[in-house]
Amino acid sequence: MDIEKHIAVVKDFPKKGIIFKDISPIFLNPNAFSQLIDELAASVRDLGATKIFAAEARGFLFGAPLSIKLGLPLVPVRKKGKLPRETVEVSYGLEYGTDTLCVHCQDVQPQDKILIFDDILATGGTAKAMCSLAEKLGAEVAGCAFIMELSFLKGRERLNGVEVRSMLIE
Ligand code: AMP
Repeated sequence: MDIEKHIAVVKDFPKKGIIFKDISPIFLNPNAFSQLIDELAASVRDLGATKIFAAEARGFLFGAPLSIKLGLPLVPVRKKGKLPRETVEVSYGLEYGTDTLCVHCQDVQPQDKILIFDDILATGGTAKAMCSLAEKLGAEVAGCAFIMELSFLKGRERLNGVEVRSMLIE
């Protein structure tokens, strides 16, 4: 499908110099959304994942239907302070300061092979942190999947050694 048709490009958001890829128009078109989930599922099926990690917040909107389509459990990856049970956490650098991502320890077993999902691969910091969460819990990373990859930010290089599947590469 032509995913680009469903992405709104917003200049200088959230700050000057950033070209924001707003993927939310796809949610206004349930047929296109359904087709995208089918194609996303088909693009990662061979990775043999046993669970999906989806990143807060836009990652949840795609991760939930993807988990139903693939018949795989979904593990929400959230910012610090949002998950009520025991968590494992990883902090990672942002342009200014740091951020911390968490998952519930009970959600992952060492024999799991985790599919890391986020809507967009930019610098790769978020996806790399999600890989570290899986590894901290003794699980393997089956691969990383994205709707869109901004290749000029070289996120793929930060994920060296991990299989990366992007539906659209710019
Ligand atoms: P990353 O730099 O790969 O850690 O990306 C951080 C998060 O910000 C990811 O969840 C992306 O979805 C989002 N993001 C980064 N850059 C953009 C952009 N240009 N447009 C839309 N979302 C972005």
